[in-house]
Amino acid sequence: MLATRYIFVTGGVTSSLGKGIISASLAKLLQARGYRVTIQKLDPYINIDPGTLNPYEHGECYVTEDGAETDLDLGHYERFLNTPTSQANNVTTGRIYQSVINKERKGDYLGKTVQVIPHITDEIKRRIQLLGTKNKYDVVITEIGGTVGDIESLPYIEAVRQLKWELSSNCLVIHLTLVPYLPTSGELKTKPTQHSVKMLLEEGVQPDILVLRTHYPLFTDLRKKVALFCNVDISSVIESIDVSTIYEVPIKMKEEKLDLIVLKKLGLPANDEPKLAPWLNFLSKVKKPKYEVKIALVGKYVELADSYKSITESFIHAGAMNNCRVEMKMIHSEHLEAPDGMELLKDVKGILVAPGFGERGIEGKIKSVQYARENKIPFLGICLGMQCAVVEFGRNVLNIEDADSSEMNRKTPNPVIDLMEGQKGVSEKGGTMRLGSYPCELKAGSAAHKAYGASSTNERHRHRYEFNNDYLHLYENSGMIATGVNPDTDLVEIIEIPSHPWFVGVQFHPEYKSTVINPHPLFVSFVKATLDFK
Ligand code: GLN
Repeated sequence: MLATRYIFVTGGVTSSLGKGIISASLAKLLQARGYRVTIQKLDPYINIDPGTLNPYEHGECYVTEDGAETDLDLGHYERFLNTPTSQANNVTTGRIYQSVINKERKGDYLGKTVQVIPHITDEIKRRIQLLGTKNKYDVVITEIGGTVGDIESLPYIEAVRQLKWELSSNCLVIHLTLVPYLPTSGELKTKPTQHSVKMLLEEGVQPDILVLRTHYPLFTDLRKKVALFCNVDISSVIESIDVSTIYEVPIKMKEEKLDLIVLKKLGLPANDEPKLAPWLNFLSKVKKPKYEVKIALVGKYVELADSYKSITESFIHAGAMNNCRVEMKMIHSEHLEAPDGMELLKDVKGILVAPGFGERGIEGKIKSVQYARENKIPFLGICLGMQCAVVEFGRNVLNIEDADSSEMNRKTPNPVIDLMEGQKGVSEKGGTMRLGSYPCELKAGSAAHKAYGASSTNERHRHRYEFNNDYLHLYENSGMIATGVNPDTDLVEIIEIPSHPWFVGVQFHPEYKSTVINPHPLFVSFVKATLDFK
């Protein structure tokens, strides 16, 4: 049996260099060579998970099959690898400390002083190696969040230092840095990389491979200089040049032979060429689309594109399936509340109302649903977006003027969207929503049924409110149908208006399951409907 190999990806110089994409790209290449790979993200913040974070902080909260609320990088891992991640793939400092403190309270440390080293670092190492047990993976890639030199990432780097010692050649460190270009002198600069590696060395870690983000190609002398100053061989100085789509990064990394260098250093054979034909096929469609279509994304966090990462990526996947590029028009739902707000929707061929929480901008979302419904524009409502569609239909078709979600108006006499029974006693915010994968049965002949080409599915959730089944008859008699229902609880998972060309609202989050190899059928079908829209 092959010993599991561990790869650590650290970052220096600045944040947002794309450690997640580099990790996912390397994983893709190793997977395409037949290795079983998983990727883990260690986040240095103290929140137990990002579920309690406002999307403005770190972007979208991603949800796994097992209901973990995680960093959005896990979305990239799944989209690239097409394999599910789980709670074990995302660990935060909060979670590490919580386990250590729980053990301390139980008396497990037998009177010892509990310290960052060894107790916190031991817990970090345990979490890293947990993924390597049970012979599930040949390679575990662990991305360390934050930037080397941050106080809060120190214990993680220390854990990497210890593991490098313990695992010796079964592990390696890839350090990602930036080579800035100074337009005034016309030069690419290596000093920030040198300093960043020095910082890592001060913390006891010698990187094995350097991946340098750059806007311009790196010439040989520059690579030689970096190699000399940073104690790596020149073949381990890898260029990561800016590209137009993240999906090109694996190809660039292959050209730079990152996968081969990694395998060699880990003592693993590189027998076959990576099998990348489906990926390349997808990429060529992304880069050379036949059609183009503009779709509005209505939400309240649109200033930060990362807030809706999985949705925007799903449109790239579904677009490629339709030979088309989807241009997202990000619309702030509050702007739709202005008297002439609907003008913003004039040039789009489809409207997606995004997930979300709370009251801000809700009326703008509801108005955009009405606009889509009345003008027969293809519509997809996700989670809160579906709930808005239900409220809109209640108010404007069923003429229940005060129809509302009890999330927005606790005292509404007509809570067409209401708090789930199981949520009624819940007071804590963290990890208490209805989370993760649940089954959904699809009504024959519905748009959803046609899209999936199946009579049931499983989808991921993150919500507290649901369609109030007391109103179901009323809705169905007037043309809004529940076409997807949870078989165990009767919870309405999908609503549709069959008299509309394509109007679908889903209580779940299809965006979490769309990958390059398996674009989500609802997105594919929605994009197709927007292309057909005249
Ligand atoms: N706020 C709504 C609920 O909790 C919708 C949640 C969401 O869009 N993810 O049910």
